[in-house]
Amino acid sequence: MSNPVQPASSGDAATQVLAQWAEVCSALAKAADKAGRTGEPITCVAVTKTHSIGRIQPVLEQGHRIFGENRVQEAQTKWPGLKAKWADIELHLIGPLQTNKAREAVALFDVIETVDREKLARKLRDEMDKQGRALPVYLQINTGEEPQKAGVAPRDADAFVRLCRDELKLDVRGLMAIPPADEEPSLHFALLRKIARRNDLSVLSMGMSSDFEIAVTFGATHIRVGTAIFGERETPAQ
Ligand SMILES: *Cc1c(COP(=O)(O)O)cnc(C)c1O
Repeated sequence: MSNPVQPASSGDAATQVLAQWAEVCSALAKAADKAGRTGEPITCVAVTKTHSIGRIQPVLEQGHRIFGENRVQEAQTKWPGLKAKWADIELHLIGPLQTNKAREAVALFDVIETVDREKLARKLRDEMDKQGRALPVYLQINTGEEPQKAGVAPRDADAFVRLCRDELKLDVRGLMAIPPADEEPSLHFALLRKIARRNDLSVLSMGMSSDFEIAVTFGATHIRVGTAIFGERETPAQ
């Protein structure tokens, strides 16, 4: 086999990851109940950046299938082997994508959450056509208008949806945002929901380890949780 998958790590690390994963699942269900969203599907994208296959495999063995990585290169070292073993894995790209990595990203990922500029949208259109892969995409909105952060400004969001969905015919399912670290996230979640509603988009990818329960009250359909499941990251991720 060209992509050998390491055996599941036995012992402490795996047990701890599974316990934390179960806790996140139950906190998610509780938050959904509290928000009056009992039984609605809310997807937990398990964010595995920096974490080894030994930590990822235990949750795969328990049936979790939806994962997020923020770097194409790192994902390429971990996921081809895992996807060969579990065919129904759904891998989300949640980090910034350079156009020169679009080809690899379209080949490996199943959802691109971070479409954030016209040049990238056009490049993805080309690559999907070339590879015959029509991936669902989310558009990243910079709700806090932070200069260092990716994403289109809220005032440009409607035009960007029109470009990506109506002109380029990308399969735009929804929106994604990362609120400023030092602000109350609710306002940002509410803003993202408002932009999604007026554009008739159903997916809202928002909420991370520290604020996913709040995101659920604001209508998140996808939360992206790393630390609360896998523990502190093993190396700094950007
Ligand atoms: C790392 C990351 C997450 C997960 O963050 P945690 O705080 O570890 O849950 C979510 N979304 C994006 C875009 C990330 O890069």
